Amino acid sequence: MTVSRRDFMKNSVLGAVAAGVGVPGMDAHPQAENAGRGHASEGDTRRPTIICAHNGYAYVEAAYASLKNGADTLDVGIQVVKGPEDDPNDDSVGLGGLPNEEGVVELDACCMHGPTRRAGAVGGVRNIKNVSMVSKAVFHNTGHVMLVGEGAERFAVAVGFPRENLLTDRSRKIWLLWKEFNSDRDWWGPGIADPSWRPPGEQPKPQAELWRDRIEHLRHRAADLGIEPEFQMAAVRRVLFPPTGTIHCSVLSEKGEMSGITTTSGLAFKLPGRVGDSPIIGAGCYTDQDVGSAGATGSGEENIKVAGAHTIVENMRRGMVPQDAAMDALKRIVRNYNGDMTRLRYMDMTYYVLRKDGTYAGVSLWEGYSSGHPHTFVVHDGRLRSETATPLLKGFSQEWPPHPTVPEELKKNSEYLK
Ligand code: ASP
Repeated sequence: MTVSRRDFMKNSVLGAVAAGVGVPGMDAHPQAENAGRGHASEGDTRRPTIICAHNGYAYVEAAYASLKNGADTLDVGIQVVKGPEDDPNDDSVGLGGLPNEEGVVELDACCMHGPTRRAGAVGGVRNIKNVSMVSKAVFHNTGHVMLVGEGAERFAVAVGFPRENLLTDRSRKIWLLWKEFNSDRDWWGPGIADPSWRPPGEQPKPQAELWRDRIEHLRHRAADLGIEPEFQMAAVRRVLFPPTGTIHCSVLSEKGEMSGITTTSGLAFKLPGRVGDSPIIGAGCYTDQDVGSAGATGSGEENIKVAGAHTIVENMRRGMVPQDAAMDALKRIVRNYNGDMTRLRYMDMTYYVLRKDGTYAGVSLWEGYSSGHPHTFVVHDGRLRSETATPLLKGFSQEWPPHPTVPEELKKNSEYLK
């Protein structure tokens, strides 16, 4: 695809206008300061290239070596995401993923193989660890694109994946702690999108001392449940801020072949049967061999509604550079809430984008989560590195479900934020 700089400019402006993405309450955002990040100049290609979510870092160097040695782009993507899937200490993916509200781990994944233009997906899969590989097996071994639930599990077993218990002892104990702490709350509606939703009422500012007691109580319960001392505060944090987490990886080979893959245990403590964006082709992942590849981590419900990954690839097809293409998808999320920052604070989204010429971008709705950690992503185009995602909005999101405000003075002094 050859697009002149002038076409880029023209199409970016027209694209934004056509999308009607004027965002109330949003002034100059940091996007402008970072425009140019990851941009290869015209004619300059950076192949091969891998881009993935931060939790893939440890696995990218070896995968890049495979890519250089001519491995298939989807197999390279699987090599990256299989790392967190196999790691019992990564509680956002595969083995050890945090379970649903009934304490059962349910996994989602999808992939697209650019060179053969095939796609596979699985949703709500229990007892099978490497759902990334199962998603590939769906297009490899069947005429279907997507299998879910019990059928997907039976298919995985039929093609040779072992059934195993995915709930590690630690994840089970964190779930128990969550059950105790949230016994009067759940994931039932009204959700943020419901017209009757109201932000939590102004509550009397909790005393730092009350919080300290609450955290200490949770920490003691974590100890009673047998969670190892070094993980007790992390467990408390997961109960107070139920995490999201996923890994996406997009891969471009020297030959210009591309693939994308996304795998997750989804939202922690979700309703049984809930499927997010990760296994939805066009939302959690989309790859078009002619254009590029994109993937997502974050608030799945929001990403499904803007078909995020597909929107980004189509924006690139129309000439937008990766960063603008992804910012446009984020603006569609903002537009879905008419720019209502009170609601938008309760969601977040990170997009990973790789164009066919090796130009890439990592963008996020907010700078990071409430804990103050910025969103980062991993790139390898000959040099492995971690980069900070470019945020659309200044500030940090609160995670969903709503959690009580932790007084600043406590945050400053507590190991709670570690
Ligand atoms: N997008 C995932 C989901 O909604 C969660 C995440 O990426 O953190 O299931």
